[in-house]
Amino acid sequence: MDITENQGRPLLKDTLAVLNPATGEVVDTVKCDSIGEINAKIVSLHHGFQKWSKTTADERSILLRKWYDNIMAHQQDLAKLITLENGKPFKEALGEVVYAAKYLEWFAEEAKRIYGRTVPASSANKRIIVTREPIGVVAAITPWNFPAAMITRKVGPALAAGCTFIVKPAPDTPLTAFEMFRLGYEAGIPEDVMGCVLADGKQVGELFTSHPLIRKVTFTGSTAVGKELIKNSASTVKNVSMELGGHAPLIVDKEADLDLAVQQTIASKFRNAGQTCICANRLIVHEAIAGVFTSKLVQAVSLLKVGNGLDESVAIGPIINKKGFNKIVNQIKDAVKKGAKVATGGKYIVDDDTNACFVYPTILTNVDDSMIIMHEETFGPVAPIVTFQSIDEAIRLANDTPYGLAAYFFTENVSRGMYLSENLQYGVIGWNDGGPSTVQAPFGGMKESGIGREGGSEGIESYLEVKYVSIKLAD
Ligand code: ADP
Repeated sequence: MDITENQGRPLLKDTLAVLNPATGEVVDTVKCDSIGEINAKIVSLHHGFQKWSKTTADERSILLRKWYDNIMAHQQDLAKLITLENGKPFKEALGEVVYAAKYLEWFAEEAKRIYGRTVPASSANKRIIVTREPIGVVAAITPWNFPAAMITRKVGPALAAGCTFIVKPAPDTPLTAFEMFRLGYEAGIPEDVMGCVLADGKQVGELFTSHPLIRKVTFTGSTAVGKELIKNSASTVKNVSMELGGHAPLIVDKEADLDLAVQQTIASKFRNAGQTCICANRLIVHEAIAGVFTSKLVQAVSLLKVGNGLDESVAIGPIINKKGFNKIVNQIKDAVKKGAKVATGGKYIVDDDTNACFVYPTILTNVDDSMIIMHEETFGPVAPIVTFQSIDEAIRLANDTPYGLAAYFFTENVSRGMYLSENLQYGVIGWNDGGPSTVQAPFGGMKESGIGREGGSEGIESYLEVKYVSIKLAD
């Protein structure tokens, strides 16, 4: 792609109105960037890289820590912004801000632990030194479901490693991203070290994957778009990291603590109205306890209030947009048409004036493998229940998907728990735990759910190149 051919042409529109998904009201209007402006930003980050990559780990660490402090000082305002543009309940939004900031704090610390190695050589007069260097300018594309955290777990390790960084956030939720970057600049991070731009996803994707000055593309979003980005990255052999879709199984064993399983299933399935890539998509329940588990779950789920996330009593906010809503409703209709029973929920509403969409938390029983919901990511507050008899049957059902992001199981039996965790083909496993995401641990998927890991000590690896120096000493 000729990066100058569209010089000056806005990629999205000149401006973008960001809507509150709960009310349809305009939260704010933002200016979109042209190809020329984005290219100029990339060039500036390329120059910035020459300086930033030579700073000491201490210098980078101090600035990341200051950014963390600034976000924490503004956490209430940021959380409100997230609820306004994303719709999630305010308490969840506040949790996201802290979680997002923690990635900056964590990688401020990891910046100081980018070690090398010396390796014994086979000749007495040779020395082998292995070092790690920042990869270069990194380009990121991020989704709307975690408008803050999906950015910090990329920009944190990138800057810590000594890379410079550009991100295009989702058009549904750019305000949080811009505000976080403003807080970062205020904390002292130079503008030629990181930037946030807004334009059409497809065109930005083509620009990032083909741009000669960008060395790495990191993406969180759908598997379909991820595959396109991987394919387009081939022409310039870019390093890629991909956090893609999931279809998480949640297994409830006959020896599970059922009250804990119900509570954690709700935590996993209904956070952000089920709009997370690791949320449980299929409940696979041992037939001996399926009746009791289902009735306890249905009772708890029927208490979850649906509405505007700014109302403190609301647990389930709106669906982000009509496209997401239609996908969820289609899955419910398809399941019911094929014989599924609605144990609770099954209701969905869309306001014709505002386009605000809500899906009531729904549990489906009498589910079978022919239903779309058993194979396609739902991204909504709907859970189908199927039963199993043997643990191997549960594992076979769980692994029967091209996805491999997160899996959950509930059992008090340690032997069965170890057997499950060793045989589930997933990158993230929650054992009696519906909320495994944390900054200290590597997050990422197997199979078509992605490439690479974010968070933990692994999270900085994909922003580093390995360099090996072979030294021949005088004889
Ligand atoms: P979702 O359907 O959940 O919005 P997407 O994968 O479509 O997931 O979107 C995630 C991010 O990818 C957003 O920032 C979006 O603008 C961007 N995007 C969408 N289509 C493309 C594309 N063809 N190439 C690059 N980025 C894209």
